[in-house]
Amino acid sequence: MKPSDRVIVIGAGPVGLCLSLALAQAGVAVTLVEALGDDNFLEQVPRAGTNHPATLEMFDRIGLYRNIEPRGIIAPVFHYWDRHEGKLIAAFDHIHLKDDTRFPYVLQCERIKIVEEALKMAKAHSLIDLRLRTEFTAFEQDADSVTAHVTNPAGEDEVVTGRYIVSGEGARSIIRKDLGIEFEGFTYPDRTLNIEVAYDFRKHGYAERNYISDPDEWSNLFHWKGPPDRWRVHFPTSPNDDPEALQRPAALQARLQGFLPKADEYEIVGSNLYTVHQRVAARFRSGRAILAGDSAHVNSPIGAMGMNSGVHDAFNLADKLVKILRKEVDEEVLDRYERQRRHVALQHTQAETIRNKRVLAEKDPAVRKANHEQLRRTAEDPKLARAFLLRTSLFESLREAEQIA
Ligand SMILES: Cc1cc2nc3c(=O)[nH]c(=O)nc-3n(C[C@H](O)[C@H](O)[C@H](O)COP(=O)(O)OP(=O)(O)OC[C@H]3O[C@@H](n4cnc5c(N)ncnc54)[C@H](O)[C@@H]3O)c2cc1C
Repeated sequence: MKPSDRVIVIGAGPVGLCLSLALAQAGVAVTLVEALGDDNFLEQVPRAGTNHPATLEMFDRIGLYRNIEPRGIIAPVFHYWDRHEGKLIAAFDHIHLKDDTRFPYVLQCERIKIVEEALKMAKAHSLIDLRLRTEFTAFEQDADSVTAHVTNPAGEDEVVTGRYIVSGEGARSIIRKDLGIEFEGFTYPDRTLNIEVAYDFRKHGYAERNYISDPDEWSNLFHWKGPPDRWRVHFPTSPNDDPEALQRPAALQARLQGFLPKADEYEIVGSNLYTVHQRVAARFRSGRAILAGDSAHVNSPIGAMGMNSGVHDAFNLADKLVKILRKEVDEEVLDRYERQRRHVALQHTQAETIRNKRVLAEKDPAVRKANHEQLRRTAEDPKLARAFLLRTSLFESLREAEQIA
């Protein structure tokens, strides 16, 4: 490969880092541009954290899994609860996937730990030219190359040239906007409240990962490894709620006490509010510029699919770019990347996460009852449970994408 066969990756999030590592390990030179620096890289707000088996296989492929496993919680089982009735509806055990994967569990490991470990690996790789505290501002392309404009840590403008540029910039992608690509979809009017709390909910029968349906106040409950261990609880809010009032200590305490009353106070360690979008870019590629991860699609976190499907984009794209640069395949395979990953974003990630929210928030008692019955029956039948888990853990999306020409 020639030195000019460089791939420029913008953003050292989970997608940009996985893509850079997969490319570099296959012999492709990468320039990875990240706005954050060593001093503030770990100050990012809490986000993703449930890593599905298919994603663990990919992390393993680049040697990342062994670094994150000790920092996470292996969680084979997840639960659906009915808060209204105070009952466990269904327990799904990934052991049903034991013949499908060597990782029959999810790893509860937060995005921040994943990017911290992946960044260490990127720093150590001689083919990755890592530019921290460097802001990408614009780019142009011609028939042979791309030129990225960046502002370096000294505040000076610089250019980086390469063969392709990939946006791993997240939802606010400059590349997507510069290309005039529509981010089609909608934004939910209500925001989600996330409360971080130091309390072991397993004492009450909860698993490490729980989806809790309720006609008035659905929630999600997740366990993260410490020290000290933390649990994250998500609650819905109303569009007109005052963000400041929602996050007052007394209001947060009341939410948790309403969810699970206990004699003493919960130890609340943090909270934040986030807006949920369901959007997919109209195109994932224009010439030598390619979108991956949140720059190409964003979705509700219910079902834990955003980061996972973004990482799947990264590996799909890495394999294709390596073959193109080795001159084994034609550049048109990038259109297949778009067909495959756009299909997954629309038909799997978006469709599933919209359905997940609807099921948790359903108000009609008859529909709720039918939904819960179906979940119960599915979990109890090993064949149905396996099919369900293949879908929720994104294997089905990968297998379907493989069928797309
Ligand atoms: C509350 C919440 C919970 C979630 N839970 C889950 C979950 O359990 N499972 C799951 O799969 N997903 C989850 N998600 C979604 C997940 O966080 C995202 O899908 C994932 O982080 C996207 O990764 P990314 O690398 O595409 O972008 P990002 O993680 O957004 O990273 C983008 C990177 O690009 C850098 N950057 C941006 N612009 C520039 C620029 N101009 N120049 C240089 N650098 C730039 C940023 O600093 C950042 O480091 C959750 C999201 C939220 C909000």
